[in-house]
Amino acid sequence: MFALDEELAVWEAQLAHLQGAARLDLLVTLAWHYRQRDPARARGIALEAGALVAAWPAPGRGGSNARLLLVEGEAQWLFGELDAAAALADQAMGMFEADDAAGRADAYWLRAWIDIDRGNSAAGDQALADAAGAARRAGDNVRIDVCDAASALLQVFRDVHAAKARWDQRFDAAAASLHPAARGWIDDYVGTCAIQASEFGGAIPLLIRSFEASMVTGQVRRSVNLATNIGNGFTMLGAHHAALEWMQRGLDLARPTGWPLCVGLGLMQTAETLRQLGQRPAARQLLHQALATMAPLAGSRAYAVALEYQGDLALDGADYDAALDSFACLEVRGEALGQVDFQSSARRGQAHALSHLNRPREALAMAESALALARERGDAYSQIAALEVLADLHTRHRLLEPAENAALHYLQQAMALAATIDGYTMPGELLDALARQYAGIGDFAEAYQVALRAGAARQKIYSTDATNRAVAMQVQHQTERAHTEGEHHRQLAAAEARRAEALQQISATLEHLSAIGQEITAHLDAKAVFRALDRHVHGLLDATHFSVFLIDADSNSLRCAFGIEAGKVLPATCLALSDPHANSARCVRERREILVELDAESCTPNLIPGTLPTMSLLFAPLLVGERVLGAMTVQSLQRGAYGERERLIFRTLCAYGAIALDNASAYRQVAATLRTLSATQAQLLEKNVELEQAYQALEEVSLTDQLTGLRNRRFFLQHVDADVGMSLRRYDDPLHPGRAQHESVPGKDLVFFMVDLDHFKEVNDRYGHAGGDAVLIQMQERLREVFRESDYLIRWGGEEFLVLARATRRDDAKVVAERIRHAVAHREFILPDGTRLHKTCSIGFACFPFLPSAPRHLSWSEVVELADQGLYLAKRSGRNAWAAVYATDQARPEGLFPRLMHHLDQALDAGEVTLVTSLENPALPTGPKKRRLGLAAGEITP
Ligand code: GH3
Ligand code: MG
Ligand code: MG
Repeated sequence: MFALDEELAVWEAQLAHLQGAARLDLLVTLAWHYRQRDPARARGIALEAGALVAAWPAPGRGGSNARLLLVEGEAQWLFGELDAAAALADQAMGMFEADDAAGRADAYWLRAWIDIDRGNSAAGDQALADAAGAARRAGDNVRIDVCDAASALLQVFRDVHAAKARWDQRFDAAAASLHPAARGWIDDYVGTCAIQASEFGGAIPLLIRSFEASMVTGQVRRSVNLATNIGNGFTMLGAHHAALEWMQRGLDLARPTGWPLCVGLGLMQTAETLRQLGQRPAARQLLHQALATMAPLAGSRAYAVALEYQGDLALDGADYDAALDSFACLEVRGEALGQVDFQSSARRGQAHALSHLNRPREALAMAESALALARERGDAYSQIAALEVLADLHTRHRLLEPAENAALHYLQQAMALAATIDGYTMPGELLDALARQYAGIGDFAEAYQVALRAGAARQKIYSTDATNRAVAMQVQHQTERAHTEGEHHRQLAAAEARRAEALQQISATLEHLSAIGQEITAHLDAKAVFRALDRHVHGLLDATHFSVFLIDADSNSLRCAFGIEAGKVLPATCLALSDPHANSARCVRERREILVELDAESCTPNLIPGTLPTMSLLFAPLLVGERVLGAMTVQSLQRGAYGERERLIFRTLCAYGAIALDNASAYRQVAATLRTLSATQAQLLEKNVELEQAYQALEEVSLTDQLTGLRNRRFFLQHVDADVGMSLRRYDDPLHPGRAQHESVPGKDLVFFMVDLDHFKEVNDRYGHAGGDAVLIQMQERLREVFRESDYLIRWGGEEFLVLARATRRDDAKVVAERIRHAVAHREFILPDGTRLHKTCSIGFACFPFLPSAPRHLSWSEVVELADQGLYLAKRSGRNAWAAVYATDQARPEGLFPRLMHHLDQALDAGEVTLVTSLENPALPTGPKKRRLGLAAGEITP
């Protein structure tokens, strides 16, 4: 909220090392803390910060903007532009982030002082309470103390007892840990309580401490206020020497600010001191000026105080009508402000005027109520003033009660009260009046004593020193004014015009820069960025030379990526980043702006051969966040070509340039990455095709028997269900003829043949494994000769083959079986050594569906087992034969399969099945057949 002078010095030093967006936070902080110390500088800093916020919009910048608005709002408040100030404070309030309670506290704080200057104390109190509430949410002790102390201070003016009851326990100004700002406000509160109780001796040291605290914490307006209050305190004590010293201090602080309230305060307090010293014309003139200066702040407490001074001055000058007017006005103002200390003086003043205007009854009522109010508040000073008026009233208008020595009575009361005020110098007039009263009652001895004291008091107050000093101050003010008034007005007008023009120029420049920023950052190609920068640099700045240096990929050198001088393109020079003489390298290394100004005598040092001897050289780093990309430079043949404004422009261009170049480089990288990516994708696609092929080959291998090239069991198991399904669908077809007779239908049946070479073991035993392999391979060829290509030829295991004849007719099966038998038995196998070998095979087969009338009754695996049973029968019966069991119309589906497997003979006898075989005398198995198929149930069940 309030920073110390030394903190500002540290921040200033830090700022000097920062560039671009990194400056933003410190700029905002500095603008804020310069708000009263140097409002013009605060505004300048705020402008730069505002430009940075616009150039680098980022989430969370709302707080910075709000703070900058508060800086401007405070400036408007100080200059008395209360409406504009209030609008800015409210706008800022809305922009602080929800969690920035400290920011809100400061916005409420400003709002409070605006309301207080407007004379709207209720709104001011509320805003201060809100500020304190926000400060508590922020957990910020300094803000809490300052806001609470300010609330307390305002309450003192309304009701000092209530204020003390509420706040005295709250503050501990002695606490060692208090921030100077907090201590200063608390001292002000305690000191003001003391002033209100006429304890000037105790109050003044506190106010002086508060003044010192406000000076080191940049509270300039408060300092003026305090200096004049201290002066006023001394005036009350009759210590005009010291009073004038403080008035002078206040005025010295106030004059350069031009803030109406401060200037007004300084003027009016000086006027009051002059009045008390009897310098009425000078006092009148200053007071007149003070009231004119403060006219926009007619609602403020200071303005009310000025009205009181005006009234007293009018009384001094015996202008009672004017005095009555002033005090009547003061009463209205005091009521509006709710500040009771004015009520007492307003009534005392009116009573005094009314008395002289011959309206004693009204005067008496006024004076008595003034005394009552002052008593109520324990304000001895105001009581003395009221008592003096009462005494005068009774002296003037004898008709009033109490008739007996009333004036003396009041004056004695006043004397008694005066004795209670520490350091108080009794005014000469009061003592004169008392002396007159003693003389009036015939007590001449007392009258003489008092008259002596009056002389001494007068001597003390109107010391030649004090008077001389007051006169000197007044003369100084007069001469200064005479000297400067004419000139001042001309200067003021000129300055105002310049300020308006500069403001307009700056705002136009910023607008222009923002458009340029959008244009520059829109390019995604570095060359286009350079061209745009070049165009705008020349449009905005005096630049004979413009070049951009970028850090090379090796990070050790700087390369001139773009350079134009006097219309000629510069060569792409390269220099070491460590080069101690190159400004561009130093600018990049130190990441800071470098301005080189040469005079006519000195020639350009480190002049790059072939370039012009420029006189002003400005270098700025290209920064994106923390990264430095390179540097940009503009150079001019003119001296002093780059002032504050030009540097601001160049800095902004650098900021845009850095962002755009970074974008372009990122874009280039993305484009390259995309190209690599699409090449990789093409390769991947190719690889995928290969993989797919490899996978298919692998799949093929995994489904094929390596020795014979026939399909294997895995293949069979993958495909058999589809064929079974198709066969069943054909049987299900209601349109198909023959279904009614449960006859076999051509093309609807599947036949499973199980083929096994006879005594194959002997081949291995006699001719070796290779001989056996050769037989197996030739066996494959013979199977292919017999079956159709669409049939599945499976090497079932060892020298056993399963053939699934698809979409065939069950009645044709025996012909096929015979053809197999014949193809093996009637042609010799040739072994690798040329041996010719005669071999036979045995065949069993079975048809699916086994029961055409109930196609789903037996599963394909049961049918395969029946084929195996046929093979077993052929082997048992002497080999080189085929055998199969066919269902007849008599077949009973219930328990058929187990019956066939275990009691084939009975099923044959019952006529449920017939035996189809090449055997003359089949040797039927009795009892359960030995399982030889090697098809575990789990293996074949899909
Ligand atoms: P049967 O007439 O009862 O079928 O008698 P077999 O000798 O043909 O039948 P057995 O099951 O007793 O012998 C089969 C032989 O087949 C045993 C095994 O060494 C041989 N064999 C199995 N696979 C291969 C193979 O891949 N190559 C060769 N060379 N021999 C094999
Ligand atoms: Mg065999
Ligand atoms: Mg076998």
